[in-house]
Amino acid sequence: MSLIVQKYGGTSVADIARIKIIAEMIAAEKESGKDVVVVVSAMAGETDKLISLAHQVTDEPDDRELDMLLSSGEVVSIALLAMALNSLGYKSESFTGPQVGIITDAFHTRARIKKITADRIHKALKEDKIPVVAGFQGINEQEDITTLGRGGSDITAVALASALKADVCEIYTDVDGVYTTDPRIVQNARRLDKISYDEMLEMASLGAKVLQIRSVGFAKKYNVPLLVKSSFKEGKGTLVTMEDPEMEDVVVSGVAYSKEQSKITISGVPDRPGIAAKIFGRIAEAGLIVDMIVQNISENGLTDISFTIPREDTKKAMNLMSGLAKEIDALDVNVDDSIAKISIIGVGMRSHSGIASKMFAALAKENINIMMISTSEIKVSCVIQSKYTELAVRVLHDEFELG
Ligand code: ADP
Ligand code: ASP
Ligand code: MG
Repeated sequence: MSLIVQKYGGTSVADIARIKIIAEMIAAEKESGKDVVVVVSAMAGETDKLISLAHQVTDEPDDRELDMLLSSGEVVSIALLAMALNSLGYKSESFTGPQVGIITDAFHTRARIKKITADRIHKALKEDKIPVVAGFQGINEQEDITTLGRGGSDITAVALASALKADVCEIYTDVDGVYTTDPRIVQNARRLDKISYDEMLEMASLGAKVLQIRSVGFAKKYNVPLLVKSSFKEGKGTLVTMEDPEMEDVVVSGVAYSKEQSKITISGVPDRPGIAAKIFGRIAEAGLIVDMIVQNISENGLTDISFTIPREDTKKAMNLMSGLAKEIDALDVNVDDSIAKISIIGVGMRSHSGIASKMFAALAKENINIMMISTSEIKVSCVIQSKYTELAVRVLHDEFELG
């Protein structure tokens, strides 16, 4: 029998009325003769609420306790959804991540799935039940509850789809697919019928939060077809799948943005071998992840080095760099947290030239200054002042005729 995994995000289970609606959708799928395994997120806003509760208790909540707390959000929605299915006359059972054997590593709040046993799911399916599994959570080897990073229900669904050899993994959300850019910012953003794993991976990494980054990487690695759809309206959705030759014809398939980084600049750095190694060695030791790096041309033996890091790590990085500046005789360290990264993505860039210059020209026409640039085979990213984010997204969306 064919098997599908359906994942419903927070907005799809936001209240009892929505839970009843998706119970009907799941029931209809079951009636069509398929086996269905459901993964759900916490009700919209719940995870944020739980995080805020923790921060009302302490500035630095213990990660183990935070995971225990956060995992409760999904437990509420699985039980409610299983009840809703039962009351429609379908046999359903809810399961936590640990109950279905989602074994992770020990990194609390961003654990990685190591294996899935899924015995309880197989058993429930044999009994013709609809298993409803809590997204975003697992258990580590010490039998402590872990969570899989924000947006982590996506990877629960993808990993289960892979483990159960499902035909497809459907991700239900509040938009009817993956768009050329965030539809909340650009009104004429267009839904894509299809997008390659690599493009989706870049889009997600560069700020398009419609799918969690790790879930896309996992889907690519294990070749799990992902179908992004809306639980609010019918439609074909967007298929995230392997690249095909047709996709190369489109040079730019999307624009993404992220306001979640800060830029740190160390100025007046002596320009001699080993200094960059020292700076980024210190950053790496602290486990901080650097994204872009720019080193200026030196003048009189001194140069400036700028880099970007996740905004939540700004304070940590500034403390480290202020200390290091003295050791390496740098003149100053400063931070800019009003930056945004704006990116264009497309596998067609591999075979077309002039794309970056077109992007720079479009930004220049609006007088938007570019502070940093980085490129890969299939993307170009620029750091700009964050107040220009929405404008830049619109301008690039128009420039590359994505609407
Ligand atoms: P869920 O709670 O269902 O997991 P998310 O909020 O995580 O939903 O993801 C859906 C949101 O992603 C949409 O509401 C939309 O604003 C945002 N989004 C950002 N970029 C894109 C894009 N390129 N295509 C579609 N949605 C996008
Ligand atoms: N509830 C978790 C979050 O808000 C996981 C998810 O929704 O995917 O990040
Ligand atoms: Mg999400």
